[in-house]
Amino acid sequence: MGLLDGKFAVITGAASPRGLGKATARLFAEHGATIAILDLDAGQAAAAAADLGAGHVGLACDVTDRASCQAAADTLLARWGRIDILVNNAGITQPLKIMDIAPENYEAVTDVSLRGTLYMSQAVIPAMRGQNAGSIVNLSSVSAQRGGGIFGGPHYSAAKAGVLGLTKAMARELAPDQVRVNAICPGFIATDITAGKLTPEMRAQVLAGIPMGREGTAADVAGCALFLASELSAYCTGTEVDVNGGSLI
Ligand code: NAD
Repeated sequence: MGLLDGKFAVITGAASPRGLGKATARLFAEHGATIAILDLDAGQAAAAAADLGAGHVGLACDVTDRASCQAAADTLLARWGRIDILVNNAGITQPLKIMDIAPENYEAVTDVSLRGTLYMSQAVIPAMRGQNAGSIVNLSSVSAQRGGGIFGGPHYSAAKAGVLGLTKAMARELAPDQVRVNAICPGFIATDITAGKLTPEMRAQVLAGIPMGREGTAADVAGCALFLASELSAYCTGTEVDVNGGSLI
């Protein structure tokens, strides 16, 4: 028996082969969920869904575009009739210093993480409200909690802090409808966002700040997403869960 048997889960930005979204999709599928992978490229989204086995679907969706989010949700609801889980995972980062952030940098980073989380949530909330059940899981970051970091600039920290505020506000508003909203704050996780961007010295410096002494894996984050998506966390809403090897201790 899987923790998500019979559930229909939508995961944004899940086409990246080594990404957190793909690992989450794989674990959810192993636990019985049917998965919709939404990403920028239709072919990559479809290929990622096919990797999970038969019955899953991949669709093109740009989460910065409200109409694109609505169109994807409408397509999925027409076919499956319900959306039980939404993971707002799509995100981009730019390692810029504060004085180097141009308006287009600010817009690009905040658009995907913050606008995307709002727009995709707005597209599924009516269905979840109608079901009187649902779980939304938002990807924030340790960068929101302590600022900066090697991979994300201040605009990334601001966007991910905004995701935490949005998570709590949505959780409060949707709690009477039994729709739960929680956030995950990953620390340093080995994915394409981080791959090849550290010299050995920088890596040693990063690991020195992690009490558990290792970088996280996509599976570490997926396990937390499974907890928040499933009934194991039935009474949790408005929370943020750190997946960072103790980086904030
Ligand atoms: P990744 O780069 O591997 O994957 C991100 C995915 O988002 C890609 O498939 C990309 O195509 C997609 N995407 C980008 N813009 C999009 C848009 N407008 N619409 C739809 N999809 C879009 O990233 P990852 O490392 O797997 O990170 C996943 C999430 O976790 C992100 O929100 C990231 O900020 C967050 N996070 C990652 C880490 C880490 O160490 N990897 C740490 C903290 C937080």
